Amino acid sequence: MPTVSLRKSGTGFLLKYGDVKLALDTGIKGETTLLSHSHSDHIGGLKNARHIIATKGTFDTWQARRSNKFQSQTIIKHGDMFGQIGVNITALNAGHVLGSTMYLLEFNDGLKVLYTGDFNNVDSLVHKAAKPVEADVLITEATYGTPQWVFPTRKTVYDNIMETAKRVTDEGRIPIFHAYSLGKSQEAIALLQSGGVRVISGNTSIDKVCSVYKQYGIELRHQTVRSHNLSETLDEGAVIVSSSSRHTIDNLRRTLGKPAFGQYEAKFEYFNLSGWTIGKFRERGFPLSAHSDFNGLLNFAKEVKPRVAYCFTENGRTLSKHLSDNDIHAVPLE
Ligand SMILES: [Zn+2]
Repeated sequence: MPTVSLRKSGTGFLLKYGDVKLALDTGIKGETTLLSHSHSDHIGGLKNARHIIATKGTFDTWQARRSNKFQSQTIIKHGDMFGQIGVNITALNAGHVLGSTMYLLEFNDGLKVLYTGDFNNVDSLVHKAAKPVEADVLITEATYGTPQWVFPTRKTVYDNIMETAKRVTDEGRIPIFHAYSLGKSQEAIALLQSGGVRVISGNTSIDKVCSVYKQYGIELRHQTVRSHNLSETLDEGAVIVSSSSRHTIDNLRRTLGKPAFGQYEAKFEYFNLSGWTIGKFRERGFPLSAHSDFNGLLNFAKEVKPRVAYCFTENGRTLSKHLSDNDIHAVPLE
């Protein structure tokens, strides 16, 4: 049996097994790319790719924020298999953002490889949890792969965000929740509106991604920062979801006019929505994460039952050590 070769390349990896070569989350000249999702740290060099395989959700969220289209692409659905010479590729839900995908590769000799991309093993209001499948080789993300990152339950995080949103607005101030534009902002908007709070999106990029989520049946009711009745909404009590404070501030200043903006600016209170708000990078905010926490990564790997696990991202080394302590031979990919 040949061995799996994995080499770091751009924002992802080049996988080789026998005669099969696949680029994972990166574009390599002449090769096919398996794209897990459209966050910027997974899409380097895609213009070089010969062919790109991804879900419609991933292509749509890509397209919403960029003008260029791919020359050659295949849309794959979760649960469906795509056959290529030497390997069958099955797309599985990764639970991270809309369309996010793990890929199960089944080679002709029976070897199974699971590539997770970024994944979340808990349900959120807008994404279903990723479920493990057994494989001989696991290539797993390790973003929160150290024991300091153990998140509270989703419900606890949701309750804490809502409690703060209501308290701050009741006090006549304006909470601004910082969340990246694809995935986290939509979860934040869905949560805040479900609690009866008026939500304003602070950035066009959030609005563009929201319009894709709506096409996929996710109900998002928010006002944009360019709305003509913005000051009335702020006066009645509202929260802002922002993916870029600088752009949100510019947008608010433009819509409200400079003198009125100054009065509102004094009321702003900022919170981050990110896993990085706990652990050693303590920030003001709430650990709302689109990634699995340390226990999630560990338990997921145990259920995959791999003969070898490769761990990528900066905590790959630490997660590898903990997987090895749990009798899973693991290697960091750096
Ligand atoms: Zn991501």
